[in-house]
Amino acid sequence: MERVVLVRYGEIGLKGANRPAFVAQLARNLQAALPCVRVENRFDHLLLRDAQQPWVLERLARTFGVVSSSPALEVAAELDAIEQAARALVAELAPQPGTTFRVETHRRDKSFPLTSPEVDRELGRRLQTHFPGLVARMKDPQVCVWVDIRQRAYVYTQVRPGPGGLPVGTGGRAVALLSGGIDSPVAIWMVAKRGVEVTPVHFHAPPFTSERAKEKVVRLVEVLSQWCGPMELWVVPFAHVQRAIRQQVEEPLWTVAMRRIMMRVAERVAERVGAAALVTGESLGQVASQTLEALAAIEAATRLPVLRPLVGMDKLEITALAQRIGTYEISVLPYEDCCTLFVPRRPRTRPTLEEAERAEVGLAVDSLVQEALAGAETVFPAAPARA
Ligand code: ATP
Ligand code: MG
Repeated sequence: MERVVLVRYGEIGLKGANRPAFVAQLARNLQAALPCVRVENRFDHLLLRDAQQPWVLERLARTFGVVSSSPALEVAAELDAIEQAARALVAELAPQPGTTFRVETHRRDKSFPLTSPEVDRELGRRLQTHFPGLVARMKDPQVCVWVDIRQRAYVYTQVRPGPGGLPVGTGGRAVALLSGGIDSPVAIWMVAKRGVEVTPVHFHAPPFTSERAKEKVVRLVEVLSQWCGPMELWVVPFAHVQRAIRQQVEEPLWTVAMRRIMMRVAERVAERVGAAALVTGESLGQVASQTLEALAAIEAATRLPVLRPLVGMDKLEITALAQRIGTYEISVLPYEDCCTLFVPRRPRTRPTLEEAERAEVGLAVDSLVQEALAGAETVFPAAPARA
């Protein structure tokens, strides 16, 4: 009897000719996240061996592409061995008298002598002999014993949901603008869930912002990399840009001017890391800088497509997702990022592109971008490694 974990993928099973590549990427991602585990690729699921540690299941719950997973016992495809496994698993659940249960068998190897319903009945009867308090119930039982009969048999009592989505690495790369706020970490999570590898870029403005504001972003990336795999964070100095904007741009247009320069720097980072799109945490209508007009003026500064996965969500939905991901607690820490300290008193809410371009006339945009890139540092915040 060997303890294994069955890992099911859903959507990637549908991807036709791409399917083998998608499954192989999922297997690689799991292997990288769980170096001690052996990953086997089995036609319609993955099987993990040496996967007893409890965090293996936690990790599966955070790996995009995983639809569900089940810790299982692998035994010979024989009824007696299946019964032993089922008894061991039911004993672990310590059923009280009156606990309802059923057996659900899938016989994928048709050479097995009993049909699936016959296994259900016979194994159910044997379990009741061994645990006399068990009560058979087909609809919504408290315990379900699943039996998958293939070349070997797999017996399990748990199906744990995974996050779904597509394996990171199957969807190309994007550069994401990561502030210390609630939204942009969620935006990164959402594109990573569609298989995109993300390079986060954070703009900071020492001495106006503290070292702790930067540490906060490093911690956000640590949490995100538990979902997305390791990510290289770019930390880009921005105080010189803000100084220039204050001097050269009329106050209502500060925000749009600043965002346009952020877009240009991010585009240059994208060239260096081979990314094909930019990602922001903008949502429609949330603040003055997020009107349709402002978004248009901002994205005109780059030739890359700008993905805004939160565009149709409201703050409550975004907050709930941030809590689920684990970034919320960090995002609400008080250390200010460079934008919070640079808010015009009366921002222009519907800037035209023409106004945005005119506002830049006095700015040495190219050299500001150059200087930002020259001062950029990269950090590889590690996800807490355990396996
Ligand atoms: P967030 O919660 O992500 O900060 P927000 O609702 O506060 O979003 P803004 O402050 O207007 O919105 O920022 C809009 C987007 O611009 C952010 O989601 C992020 O993608 C990008 N951004 C803002 N500030 C920074 C920064 N300091 N570094 C990198 N990107 C930033
Ligand atoms: Mg913000």
